[in-house]
Amino acid sequence: MSWKIPLADLVFGQEEEAAVLDTLRSGWLTQGPRTEAFEAAVAATLGVRHAVAVANGTAALHLACAALGLGPGDEVILPALTFVATANAIRYTGATPVFADITSLDDLTLSPLAAAACITPRTRAILVMHYAGYPCDMPAFQRLARQHNLALLEDAAHAIGATLEGRALGAWSDTACFSFFSNKNLAVGEGGLLATDRDDLAGQFRTLRSHGMTTLTWDRHRGHASSYDVTTLGYNYRMDEIRAALGIVQLHKLPQHNAARATRTAHYRACLTAHAPQVGQPFTQPRGQSAHHILPILLPEQADRAAIMAHLKAAGIQTSIHYPLVPTFSAYQTEPTATDLARLPHSVAAAARQLTLPLYPTLTETQIETVVAELTAALEKEN
Ligand SMILES: *Cc1c(COP(=O)(O)O)cnc(C)c1O
Repeated sequence: MSWKIPLADLVFGQEEEAAVLDTLRSGWLTQGPRTEAFEAAVAATLGVRHAVAVANGTAALHLACAALGLGPGDEVILPALTFVATANAIRYTGATPVFADITSLDDLTLSPLAAAACITPRTRAILVMHYAGYPCDMPAFQRLARQHNLALLEDAAHAIGATLEGRALGAWSDTACFSFFSNKNLAVGEGGLLATDRDDLAGQFRTLRSHGMTTLTWDRHRGHASSYDVTTLGYNYRMDEIRAALGIVQLHKLPQHNAARATRTAHYRACLTAHAPQVGQPFTQPRGQSAHHILPILLPEQADRAAIMAHLKAAGIQTSIHYPLVPTFSAYQTEPTATDLARLPHSVAAAARQLTLPLYPTLTETQIETVVAELTAALEKEN
């Protein structure tokens, strides 16, 4: 299927092509100088001491949980309205994800009050997710984490370039996890990164991402090291130089791309208000500067979402759902992750009505108007 208006689209140009070619011609493809340069550039952008690039966002989440020493019997509080990888990463360590509700149908991020109500003597961490790039209430989560001596983690997969009170998302917690998957604001294909101010965690991330080895292949290649020890059970979660080279170029373009997403979001909001007032628009009062990763709407309660998606598909418009609630998946319905959905009223209501419309930096005003017109027609067909 080739879409007239896809959900997301890459914006790659000659700079990306040149960066990949340069890398191929450099003769070194795995984690090396480009990865180091990408890490330094991301750390500077976020204002954090350390950035550690990894193979994908899920690997970043896994290493965050592993470096905290999470294991069986430990609990981590997270939103139910997130991508399954957020919860899977906790389970890789043997720890138990505990799903808490979002704040409201306007603020689709984890509720600090709901999270507080989930704290038990086994709770070790809170893992928030900046939905669509809109900031969670980080000052409240910092207080909660401090008060109960918990680690605070950010799933910042949607949030590169977003800020709260002038501080980058990803710089508000013990460590933040980014994804550079193809449909994310900064895209390299498959890629991820951990941001942290903590020297101890950064050291662990670097060791864990490369088999637990004490020296790098790159250092041995340069003759800086000839042997190594393995100090811990590690993984191969390295990023390669081609992805890092793409990342450097994409990071450079990020402010411009995020600004383009912001103006397109504003145009969507105006069109929806004018032509489809029955559609809910979450995040009317965002608490900071969003990265505008996706454009989420809430359909009217009685609307047939599948029929509306089918109507849009017939018009060549791709839509999606962010997200089916993680605790409703089969893999999450057995103990210890079986969750009473009655505890998550806002998440259940949002997940039932949520629809994601196309959003990317090169989407045109006319395309946005077409999407809203087709959405309006689909809603009218229902009545
Ligand atoms: C994309 C995404 C991930 C996983 O990232 P990958 O790079 O695809 O592994 C995790 N959490 C959220 C919220 C995401 O959107």
